[in-house]
Amino acid sequence: MRSPHETISAALEILTDGLGPFFQVEMCRVYGYRWEQTLRNTLRNTLQSRSEPVVWDAYNLLTAMWEQWNEVFRQQLGLFERSLVSELREYRNLWAHQAVFTEDDAFRVLDTVQRLLAAVDVAPELLDRLEQLKFDVLREKLSRQIDEDRLRAQANREKVTDIALYGLGGATIIVSTLLSLAPRNPLAGLILCAFTAFTFVYLALKRWTAAAPQWGVHECRACRKIIYTKMCPYCEARPQSSVAKGSSASRFQTIRAVAMATLTGQSTPAKLTVNERE
Ligand SMILES: [Zn+2]
Repeated sequence: MRSPHETISAALEILTDGLGPFFQVEMCRVYGYRWEQTLRNTLRNTLQSRSEPVVWDAYNLLTAMWEQWNEVFRQQLGLFERSLVSELREYRNLWAHQAVFTEDDAFRVLDTVQRLLAAVDVAPELLDRLEQLKFDVLREKLSRQIDEDRLRAQANREKVTDIALYGLGGATIIVSTLLSLAPRNPLAGLILCAFTAFTFVYLALKRWTAAAPQWGVHECRACRKIIYTKMCPYCEARPQSSVAKGSSASRFQTIRAVAMATLTGQSTPAKLTVNERE
């Protein structure tokens, strides 16, 4: 099973495969056959160009699309697709910096790539691959949820059984005391009954409030490494995705800020437009 980071890698590969031909056709339509030279001169400081000609990977494609939106892509795509490009640029930068992603992030990237590629009319096989990856993410999430529910139910059954045994043990001692010791020495019988009741109620309460053991040896959801603690030491050492580390509310606000800035034609928040390099 892929980690969220690997899923996003696969999504970016499909994005590159699907977006490349459309990008070249549109650039050629506006700038002619020397479009790459024109673009390299215009975006000298923003494209990642370690080789000649430029390798059109996800970073360069998304950067060039964003920078050339008004000149080239506005005629074919709308504001909604522009916000998808902006969002994918943010995720691509986080991915390049080995940020920690959740399954929800991976699903979101797959969905965004799928929507963008559907808008540029790519081969159906690419959309099918994205659909399959989305299904894999959902299946993984669902199967883990089922496992967790099953373990929780099992822990609850064991808890109820233990408490029932405590109750039975305590009641047996108290009844035996009342029948044998209490008629001969009522005070000693009373003390023994009270002590027994107190001890078993204490044990039952302690068992009832004990947390279910959740953190045995298990697999980290983000990096898929086998870990022994609640927090994954491998993921803690890496930078947290600015999207992943926020609450769902702050994540929604971030996405909404991008969409609003895009739709109103304002510049996108600085955090989201910075061209981070690998
Ligand atoms: Zn991890």
